[in-house]
Amino acid sequence: MWSVEGQEHILAQLDPSLQQGRLAHAYLLTGPPRIGKLTLAMDLARAVNCLNAPGAPCQECDQCRRIRDGLHADVRVIRVTQREAGGPTRTVIGIGDVREALRQTSLKPFEGASIVIVFDGAESMSEEAANALLKALEEPPPEVLFLLLTTDSGALLSTIRSRCRLLEMKPVARERIAARLSEGSGADVELAERLARLSRGCMGWAVNAWNNPEVLEQREADLQQIYEVCRAGLVQRFNYANELAGRFSRDRDGVKELLFLWLQWWRDLALIKEGCEQFVANRECLSQLRLLASGLASAEVVGFLKGLHRTLEALDSNGNPRVALEVLMLDLPVKV
Ligand SMILES: [Zn+2]
Repeated sequence: MWSVEGQEHILAQLDPSLQQGRLAHAYLLTGPPRIGKLTLAMDLARAVNCLNAPGAPCQECDQCRRIRDGLHADVRVIRVTQREAGGPTRTVIGIGDVREALRQTSLKPFEGASIVIVFDGAESMSEEAANALLKALEEPPPEVLFLLLTTDSGALLSTIRSRCRLLEMKPVARERIAARLSEGSGADVELAERLARLSRGCMGWAVNAWNNPEVLEQREADLQQIYEVCRAGLVQRFNYANELAGRFSRDRDGVKELLFLWLQWWRDLALIKEGCEQFVANRECLSQLRLLASGLASAEVVGFLKGLHRTLEALDSNGNPRVALEVLMLDLPVKV
């Protein structure tokens, strides 16, 4: 059985491919943070190595278990946030990572049926690394599955995109997330519904927030800071931009997730401007949102939403994070 949830449109495509042994050699998994890209990638890694293949992974055989426990020699996950021993924190997936992975793909699988190489954050690949990977995708080695995970497929080389089969992960319906969270006995239905509303359709985020109360506390603190920055003067805004830029080199995903929170906040402002308050995600902050919205024109809200998308794109295409975030702060339309 698959452990990824709410992505039936993708499984309907993968199930027959697995049954008929016609899986592509490379897939591009796209979707917002915490939607379940890595969960699906690990499911696929198990499916191609499962002792009860073909089909969905059984999750119980020796191969499935070793992959779940991160012990399988043929399954490699390459991330940008790994810290190299004694070296500086990396901000890109470099040529060294790709070369090492490709060396592995030139060998036979060591303990399973297939080698699986996962690039988590594929948009953060250096140009040199991307070109080396492209060569491998053009002449795919046998018994190898490449899985590229990204929040922004537009930031990848088009030549890489065109050699991967696209799996576009979709937000999961709010009701389904709430039902999944509150399925245990004695579950807090109100909290489940609140988390489902805040999750932007990302099951992984909702489950994590359900299991770890500090996620919601941190989110509330982040929103409070967003509200304050929206009302602050230029110096405070620039301090905020610098703080985020510094954090970006250590915690790329965390900063991107924070920008998605900014997006949600500004989408809420747009909804209020259009008289659709009932759809606001951050209902707990309604009075603050109303206050901000009253000082803004609709065009300013739309303009800033576009600015946020531009910033996310700049960060994904390895632009200078400090510059990108400072420009964003200059774009903030609130009068000071
Ligand atoms: Zn299995």
